Amino acid sequence: MINNKNLEALIKENLALVKHRIKFACRRAERKPTDVKLLLATKTVGSTAIKLALENGGSLIGENKVMELIYKRKDLSGLSIPIHFIGHLQISKIKDVTSRVNCIHSVDRLELAQKLNSHLQYQGKSMEVLLQVNTSGEASKFGVSPEKALQLAILVSRYDSLKINGLMTIGHYGADVDKQRACFKLLKDLNLKISELALPNTEMRVLSMGTSNDLEIAIEEGSTIVRVGTAVFGPRRVSDSYYWNELDS
Ligand SMILES: *Cc1c(COP(=O)(O)O)cnc(C)c1O
Repeated sequence: MINNKNLEALIKENLALVKHRIKFACRRAERKPTDVKLLLATKTVGSTAIKLALENGGSLIGENKVMELIYKRKDLSGLSIPIHFIGHLQISKIKDVTSRVNCIHSVDRLELAQKLNSHLQYQGKSMEVLLQVNTSGEASKFGVSPEKALQLAILVSRYDSLKINGLMTIGHYGADVDKQRACFKLLKDLNLKISELALPNTEMRVLSMGTSNDLEIAIEEGSTIVRVGTAVFGPRRVSDSYYWNELDS
């Protein structure tokens, strides 16, 4: 078992490296580093490691699974840390999520938006959301298709308890830089088009795109939130297909 001192040193070093990558990517793209937020994608990562990351410069985390969200929210209850939900959200889990997160990145279908809105209305609150777009066209990924994204935005914007803040994508998962870039360009283009519709409850200021693999390209294409897991916490023991593929959440 790795002891906490080693773990802390590792996380600290990794975090510094990732922040450096963000800074340099911003410099190249002539953007302000403060315009890009680092979200720590903490799926499979235990509360101890998360706390160490937060003590060493992390300030925002993202969870994929409701079960993990529930126990980590409890473990981190002493800290006023924002948590975003970045995984596939099942309608039956809505009530477990709305009380525990500050933003949901994965609104990708009308039925989910409608049920979310009703539940929030009932709770008397509103929630910041992003619409998730499947920019890579890969069947294994969730998200509305690019062709249907505008239509979804129009329909979701009628729900007063949902505040649409922008878009999220997972992008192309592979080493092909042109394909990665094309996904991010597409998301940015859709963001602009939706913004031009001047919809109610909508302010398209967030582009949640870029991970450990491709954050530089995402930043060059306008990302405002990069979601980074392995580059900070090391490789995961559970395959990503468990998080990105299966219907059960
Ligand atoms: C796991 C995950 C990430 C982070 O991926 P890494 O390759 O670990 O940086 C980003 N976004 C989503 C939706 C994820 O599930």
